[in-house]
Amino acid sequence: MQGNIFVISAASGTGKTTLISRLLQHHADIRVSVSHTTRAPRRGEENGKHYHFVSVPEFERMIEESQFVEYAQVYGNYYGTSTQSLESLTRQGVDVILEIDTQGAEQIRRQLPQAHSIFIAPPSLQTLEQRLRQRAADAPEVIARRLAEARSEIEQAALFDYLVVNDDLVAAENALLHIIKSQRFRRENQEPFVHQLLAGSSENA
Ligand code: 5GP
Repeated sequence: MQGNIFVISAASGTGKTTLISRLLQHHADIRVSVSHTTRAPRRGEENGKHYHFVSVPEFERMIEESQFVEYAQVYGNYYGTSTQSLESLTRQGVDVILEIDTQGAEQIRRQLPQAHSIFIAPPSLQTLEQRLRQRAADAPEVIARRLAEARSEIEQAALFDYLVVNDDLVAAENALLHIIKSQRFRRENQEPFVHQLLAGSSENA
């Protein structure tokens, strides 16, 4: 059975990365596609594990060679999902998460209509503001800009198939898990089994 593809987007500060890393820790059959980016690695980030860190000319060469299934500029840096990264995972039959922004989500909707999209929302804008303040000692104007960007990301939520509010981490992780696992039970995802079942019953008849 081929793995399903899930696009997960959220406004920054919603806790999306924490949620997804918990999910990956607890479920070996759920994996995340490693994106390419031109942003500099943060402390503790490893090339090939968190991102494939590449130069701007390298990224632009990959765009020209149509190596990305989607790409976008976020906060002044390029980010993209290479077709190769994605296919190497789906071929293994694992469920694949694309942790990408809403611009990328829009491209995936067009390119891969079979993918499912999930938007993670904060419980309120006040909570988001608190989280953004706690997370980094950013200047007030940087926080204000991030909040404005968060608002415009949240406006995109209507385009997603599923919405999960990240109020309680455990509850939100469970909700994500249910959404991901339930796709495995879709009848069209089990077509080979139905064929096998019928083939078996005619042999025995
Ligand atoms: P960060 O720099 O904090 O790791 O990521 C910044 C934003 O870029 C996040 O919203 C993240 O989801 C998004 N992002 C990460 N990888 C990709 C990608 O491959 N494509 C797109 N479109 N966005 C991405």
